[in-house]
Amino acid sequence: MTQITIIGVGLIGGSFALGLRAAGLNVHIVGAGRSERSLERAVERGIIDTWNTSLPESVEGSDIVLLATPVGAIDRVLQEISPALAPTTIVTDAGSVKQSVIDSARQWMQHFQNFVPAHPIAGTEHSGVEAGFATLYENKRLILTPMEETSVEAVDVVSELWRATGAKLEVMEPAHHDQVFAATSHLPHMLAFSLVETLHRMDQKSPLLHHTGGGFADYTRIASSDPVMWRDVCLYNQQALLEALSEFQNGLDTLVDAIDKKDGSALEQLFATAKETRDTKVLPADSVDKMVNDDKTTEV
Ligand code: NAP
Repeated sequence: MTQITIIGVGLIGGSFALGLRAAGLNVHIVGAGRSERSLERAVERGIIDTWNTSLPESVEGSDIVLLATPVGAIDRVLQEISPALAPTTIVTDAGSVKQSVIDSARQWMQHFQNFVPAHPIAGTEHSGVEAGFATLYENKRLILTPMEETSVEAVDVVSELWRATGAKLEVMEPAHHDQVFAATSHLPHMLAFSLVETLHRMDQKSPLLHHTGGGFADYTRIASSDPVMWRDVCLYNQQALLEALSEFQNGLDTLVDAIDKKDGSALEQLFATAKETRDTKVLPADSVDKMVNDDKTTEV
């Protein structure tokens, strides 16, 4: 039986465990984290078999360790568990940022070739032990960002587990990953948070939020996401996110300028370009059928 330790049994770690169980894999899953109550609840929900709040003890005897904490906690977690890892233990992660996590693994892991960085392109706005569900990764992409040193066998083991959850695998360079997801995931989350916070400020002066409709609710769903997770994404993908925000600021300036000048044709052109792009190039939330691979992304 394969023993897997999941450090951080929240939406991502919990769904991984439930996905493996739903696939019928013969696994013993050890949960680790800070809150005993959450870990007990994870046992009740059938997510984990046992738990340990000592991170080094939680990885003892495990074949695979999944780091599923917020990105900002991963460095300290790796520092703590590394002396307790067996030479053959494979460590993987699910962090939304890859380069900083790889740097930490390189610094702390004695057997760095056993580290397989990964990022599931799946999630919801909910977090914590109650949020996980078995089908989260079905037909969703899972990006692997292995380095030159990464053991091919370790990548194969991690790939098999993610495939069992229903995920479709792709490989990307870590820096390219961080740039792409700064634009396609991190930027939209920033805009949603900022929009809701702006309306909150306006609402303080003169109540208006009770007038919001379905479009506002749809658009801002992701502003209900976990503040700690998103704080860490900003701190650890700072450069790429600032570049994406700067591009957005240029676009916003263009829009403001066109409105200010009452330039109807510029506005119509901008909206038509956006509509055409949305209608033809943006994949539906649950589709991986038409994965658009650029020359730096490999389907595996
Ligand atoms: P989550 O639901 O909040 O779960 C995080 C878990 O980590 C919690 O169970 C928490 O449990 C534990 N934790 C937090 N800080 C810790 C620490 N310092 N030491 C040990 N355990 C700690 O978050 P999530 O959405 O699953 O996200 C987990 C990771 O997946 C993040 O790195 C995120 O970037 C990535 N990710 C998220 C999404 C998404 O949509 N949510 C998508 C793809 C990737 P305790 O409080 O009990 O310690």
